[in-house]
Amino acid sequence: MAPETLDEILVLAEEAEEQPPPPLGGIPKQWVPGWFRWPICVMVLPWNLFDLYLQKLATLIIRPPYRKEGECLKRGNCCHYILIPEPKGLLGRLNFFFNTQIYGFYPRYKEPYEYDGNKVVVMGCRYLQKDGSCGNYRLRPVVCRKWPVIEIFGQPRILKGCGFKAIPKETPKPKRSPLDIIQ
Ligand code: SF4
Repeated sequence: MAPETLDEILVLAEEAEEQPPPPLGGIPKQWVPGWFRWPICVMVLPWNLFDLYLQKLATLIIRPPYRKEGECLKRGNCCHYILIPEPKGLLGRLNFFFNTQIYGFYPRYKEPYEYDGNKVVVMGCRYLQKDGSCGNYRLRPVVCRKWPVIEIFGQPRILKGCGFKAIPKETPKPKRSPLDIIQ
């Protein structure tokens, strides 16, 4: 039976020591053929890298309050709990199509869940290997390259039990001014 809330799902994700089983009925097949999929993944790669580069540049200008430390433990949990917006309207459907047919994600539950006032679908990824490594590492989507997310504004998004930690940056101590001596 599917969990009732996203919180329940995230607790499962945090506590799981093994990768979750595939959805009922198995992982759905991608009907878009590989000869169409792979060239698209290659074509969007420069844009994805450029997007990440711009985001990195932004963090040099506006410093995020946390820094990321640690390394991936290859638990694979984050690859099984990817949240994407519910497919609504033309853009929403296109986004869903791209994520499922091109990037290879698949819905883990039939119904969408509530997240921050929006409806999201919980996705798994067919490229996750049994040893927790990524079978599509070079062409993986932006969401995988950015995860775990250290927000410029807002709280970091890291699953409990992840090998990465968000460390609060210390506020630098004010330099002693020569005037202090006079005081
Ligand atoms: S593409 Fe790779 S990193 Fe991204 S969800 Fe799939 S297995 Fe994980």
